Amino acid sequence: MKSIVKRRKIWLLLFLFVGLGLWAAHGQKTEAAIVSTNHQKYTYAEYRKDLKQLKKKYPDRCQVNVIGRSADDRNLYEVVLGNTQAKKHLVVIANLHAREYMTTQLCMRQLEYYLKKYNKKISGAKVADVLDKVAIHYVPSANPDGTAISQFGFGAIRDKSLRAALRKMPGSALRWKANARGVDLNRNWAVAFRKGGVRGYAGFHGSKAASEPEVKALVKMVNRIEKNGQIAGVVSYHSTGSILYGRCASNAETKVEQVTDRMYRTAQSLTGYRLMPTESLSSAAGCSREYFLYKRDIPCITLEVGRGTCPLSIREFPSIWRKNKNVVIREAMLFD
Ligand SMILES: [Zn+2]
Repeated sequence: MKSIVKRRKIWLLLFLFVGLGLWAAHGQKTEAAIVSTNHQKYTYAEYRKDLKQLKKKYPDRCQVNVIGRSADDRNLYEVVLGNTQAKKHLVVIANLHAREYMTTQLCMRQLEYYLKKYNKKISGAKVADVLDKVAIHYVPSANPDGTAISQFGFGAIRDKSLRAALRKMPGSALRWKANARGVDLNRNWAVAFRKGGVRGYAGFHGSKAASEPEVKALVKMVNRIEKNGQIAGVVSYHSTGSILYGRCASNAETKVEQVTDRMYRTAQSLTGYRLMPTESLSSAAGCSREYFLYKRDIPCITLEVGRGTCPLSIREFPSIWRKNKNVVIREAMLFD
């Protein structure tokens, strides 16, 4: 009788040990991700919390800077990945258009993935070696006010007068592309600028070039980076259509055209997105891509992720992730 009890105890202990071991191994394998990509609305509050956690977890691998504030007083963040003193830099801008907020989630997931893989290889190159030579500057959300409108309606805008003005503007909150002042942030850049559109959900160019705080902050960031190094390229994330802009008009500098073409081919080989024809400079008045190409001589491509209408359904995320997961690091590899 005694020995049966003893044997039972041993079995119980053994069971407990094996159980604990399995639990620990599982825990390690599925170390909780910081950035969640399985819910529809990736909010400003969540974005800030994730940035804080990424910085805390990887303090030597990334830097988080506030490069400006939006009209409704939200922070515009820049996340620098890798060597801030590098000679070359790659800039990634997402969510310039409000309802395209899934691009923020995509960039945040990319950031976490590259940080995690820092001492490992992607496509045959060690991530840390690439980032030592080419720092990546992400602006995951260039339009946090507009995003709040698209996610929660005009009530999400805290400033009373901005909110009252918004309610008189044309366009539904859900489909909002502009910022909280009804200006399309991809028509407000100082390239072939001309007035156009009316304040509202999309298409208003602004009262003058770079009138908006979000555009000003991005230009200031670009100027700052270029003081100590070279911006080798810009990757601009929009949605939707699974298409790619990577052709220059004939008045681009040859070198800019060639590098843009290399960036385009890299992105195309990974995503399979369809290449759009060249736009004439006059039809692309005030656009960010044309600003980089023709005003700053910086190669630039635009990826339009997803297939459905914006805001994209979260159901599209897995396929967007599969195609885009290595895009930015592979673009950086072109310059190392
Ligand atoms: Zn867009």
